[in-house]
Formats: sequence, C-alpha cells, structure tokens
Amino acid sequence: MANREVLKTVLDSPSLPTLPTVASKLISITSNPETSMAEIAHLISKDIAISAKILKIANSSFYSFSSKISTVHQAVSNIGKNAIRSLVLSVSFLTIKTNYKNEVFDYEKHWQKSLSAAVAAKLIMAEIDKTDPEEIFIAALLQDIGGLILARAFPQQYEQTLIALTDDKRDIIEIERRIIGADHALIGYEVTRNWGFPAELLVPIQFHHNPESYKEGNNKLRTATNVVYLSGMITNILFSNKPQDYHQQFLEKSGKMLGFDNTVINRILRKVHTEIAEVASFFDFQIQNPKPVEEILQEANIALSLINLSYEQMNKELIAAKMELQKLANDLEEKNKRLEKLANIDGLTDVYNHRYFQNFLETEIRRSLRKKTSVSLVLFDVDHFKKFNDSYGHPAGDFILKELCKLVKKNLRDYDLIARYGGEEFILVLVETAAEDAAEITEKLREVIASHIFIDDINEYKVTASFGVATMSPAKDEFKQGDFIDFADKALYESKKKGRNKITAYTHKKRWFGKG
Ligand code: GH3
Ligand code: MG
Ligand code: MG
Repeated sequence: MANREVLKTVLDSPSLPTLPTVASKLISITSNPETSMAEIAHLISKDIAISAKILKIANSSFYSFSSKISTVHQAVSNIGKNAIRSLVLSVSFLTIKTNYKNEVFDYEKHWQKSLSAAVAAKLIMAEIDKTDPEEIFIAALLQDIGGLILARAFPQQYEQTLIALTDDKRDIIEIERRIIGADHALIGYEVTRNWGFPAELLVPIQFHHNPESYKEGNNKLRTATNVVYLSGMITNILFSNKPQDYHQQFLEKSGKMLGFDNTVINRILRKVHTEIAEVASFFDFQIQNPKPVEEILQEANIALSLINLSYEQMNKELIAAKMELQKLANDLEEKNKRLEKLANIDGLTDVYNHRYFQNFLETEIRRSLRKKTSVSLVLFDVDHFKKFNDSYGHPAGDFILKELCKLVKKNLRDYDLIARYGGEEFILVLVETAAEDAAEITEKLREVIASHIFIDDINEYKVTASFGVATMSPAKDEFKQGDFIDFADKALYESKKKGRNKITAYTHKKRWFGKG
C-alpha cells in the first residue's frame, strides 16, 4: 500500500482515536492568538475530570509553584497558553488509554513507554532551556502515537511488524514501511496534523526517528526534535532488552546533538526513574516501580557476564571432551599397534612372523631391482634342536629360541629384518648387502651364537646354528622370491651336510662357498 492509501485508510478508520471535545476545541482556540486566558479556562472547566487533573498537576512538583493553585483560571494564567494546551492533551491521551483492548498492541506498555519518554524529554530539555517543559513533554508523549493508530487500523500487519522487529536488526520505521506501506512517524504526523496540532508537536512527531531529515531552519523545532529523539533512547534503555547498546547510543548522540557531557548525562539518567514514578502519579497513571538506569545497566552486565561465564564453562567442557577424544584416539592407535603386532609378530620370540617376512622380502626385492643394489637372505636353523628339547625339555627349548632371537637382533643392523621362518628356523633379510658383506655378517652371527652361554634359572646351555646365505645382485642375477628363499634353504642344507655350525653361501654361479 502506498503512503497515501495507508493514510486514507487510517483517517477513515472507525478505530481512529478521537480527542475529547475539550482537547480538540482547545487546539483550535489556542491556535488563534486572540484567544484569552479566560476563554481557555472556561473551556477546560467544562470537563470536570480534566480540570481536576490539571489542578492536581499544577499543584504538584511538576511545577513547584510557590502558592497553591485553586482554580483552573489560576492554573491557565500560571502555566501559560501553550503549556496548558499540552497539559490538557497529555491528560486526555493518558486517560483514553484504558478504552483500548487489543491483543496485538500492548496499550498499557505503549503509554508507559510514552510517559517515560515524555519525562525523559522534559529532563533533557531542562538542561537546555527551562521554558515550556509541557510542550516537549506532550511532543515526546505522542511521538509514537502513529504506532498506536497503525496497530488499530492494521492489526494483522502490525502484528507481523512486531514479529519482524524481534529478529530483524533494522529500524522499526523500515519494517513498517515494508509491511504496512507507511511508518508510524509519518502516520502520527498526518493524524495529529489532521487534529490541528501546532508545528511544535508535529515536527518532533514526524522526525523523531531521523532528526537529521528535518532540514528547515527553525532551531527551536530542531532542538525539540533532537530532544524527542534522545528521549526515545532513554525509553529503550529502560524498556528494551539491549539497554547497554542504547546507553552507548545516548552517550554518543546526546554529546553530538546537544553537547552533553558525562555530568549532564548522569544527572538525567540518575533521576529519570524517580521522575517517571512521580509524574505518573500526577497523571493518575499506573506504572510499576521503574528501575534506576544504573541498576538496569548493571543487571544487563551481569547477564552478559553470565553468558560469558557459561561460555567459558562450555569451553572447558569442550576442551575436556577434546582431551577425552584425544585419549580415545591414542588408545585406539595403541590398540591398532598391538593388533598389527599380533598380526605381524611371532608370539614366542617377538621377532616378525613368516607372513610379514614374505611381504618385507617382496618390497626389498623390488627396491633392490629399482636401485640396482644387492639384497641378501640368511636362513638359519638351530642344530640338533630335537635332541635339545629331549634333553632339557620344551620350555628350555622355548627359552633358547627367545634368547637366540634377542642375541641375533642385538648383532644386526637396525634396518635388517629377522623373522621366524618356522619352528627353530629363522630368516634374515640383509638390505643393500652384497654377498661378501652378508657372509661376513653371517659368520659373525654364527660365532656369537656358538660362543654364547644361555643361562636360565636351572641350567647353562650352549647351542649352534647352521646358516644358508643367498644374495641377489640385480646387475648379475634376478630371482623369483620363491627361488631366492630356496637358494638360501639349499645353502643351509649344505651347511648341515657339512656338519652344522657352518655357513654356506649360494652364488649366482651356483658355486658353493663355505666357511666355519
Ligand atoms: P637339525 O640339526 O638337522 O636341524 O636337527 P633338529 O633336531 O634341530 O631338526 P628337526 O627338524 O629334526 O627337529 C626340529 C625340532 O625343533 C623339533 C621341534 O620340536 C623343535 N622345535 C620347533 N619349534 C619349537 C618351539 O617353538 N619350541 C621348542 N622348544 N622346540 C621347537
Ligand atoms: Mg634344527
Ligand atoms: Mg629344522
């Protein structure tokens, strides 16, 4: 809907609030400079309820007149023409509030906020100009009248607007324009203009959300607009869920617009809550004990630090969970290592098993072919081990096998492999090792084993082993893996044949080379 259509709907709406006769007549007669105080007093006196309230307020600390005001006429001449008009309007609006019951729009809250804004505006204005506090009071009180009017004319769209406002970062003005087609500042302005309001009220109502848009040269109106704008911020400190944000905004904008320093700002913010309570009572308006701004800000800070605290707590828990996860991962890695070991390691001797040896040899053969380096295999077998078992028992035999492996490992280079080929037969893969070096290493091992005294709890033992060495040198010969092992086995058999505790090397020329 376009602005104009929205306005037409609003003005034609049966729900448009109507001013009490006294208030509306007062607006028209006060716009005439010829109107006398007596005429105004006469008009107000016609409405007993309004008259009573005016007298009550005139005698309250809202004015602090030195002598008691006992007649409306006295009130009018003391307060002044424009001021009495504002006062009658304020009283009228704060009286008609209870007539509206609407599920979407919280009228009670609306007038509480409006009254708070009016009080705040009066306090702000008192810091700049002590004349006419009533004018700024009514301007601030009615700044959001457009919202109330829109809510009555377009209840559904207004509900949507309020919903959008809760999770939309944008200004209410923008949301109203998008959903309803016109914003409450414009509607408020148009409706009150229709009611015959003077510029002192119209301008602040129209520009209270964006005072910088007021481009006319009237300083008084500009100041009033700025004050109403700032009063809205104080209302937001008091009523919104982001008091710190609005407090910050208020500090910044009041400094920029009105040159307020901290002393002035604190003076206003410190008394705003008591002033609201007091003014509400003058107007017979119910408002529950407003909290001091300081307390509101403190509570908000506590709430914020509570959020931070639970954040920290959450962080702690996350770290703990992460550590637990890390521990589980470590355990798993450990378990996997153990599983891998179980799969690859011989249970008795703790050296690699046959399967692992075959895989290892395959890789080494490929590497030796690629790098043109020699690789040697040494198969060895404990001599007369059957007899050993028979003499000392199987457990002693086991002990020998274990000790033997330790002994060999100790005398091998780190990168060489020892595996249990089967039974009391073991195999070594000597990486990047030529035949001569392999023979030398093997001879040394033979000597180490033959000279070693195996000692357990019961006995001292001596064993020997026979060795078969085979070397593959890619430049000269290439073996299939099975053949390679077979050659070592043949050489071992040769050592046994020669009387045991011997080494035999199988060469590609198939010449036997024996030692030991
Ligand atoms: P040779 O010198 O010809 O190798 O004679 P040997 O007795 O060592 O050979 P043989 O193959 O006849 O017997 C091997 C023996 O090794 C028989 C077997 O019980 C023993 N043996 C194999 N594995 C184990 C083991 O894990 N523990 C024990 N204690 N003995 C084992
Ligand atoms: Mg044997
Ligand atoms: Mg054997």
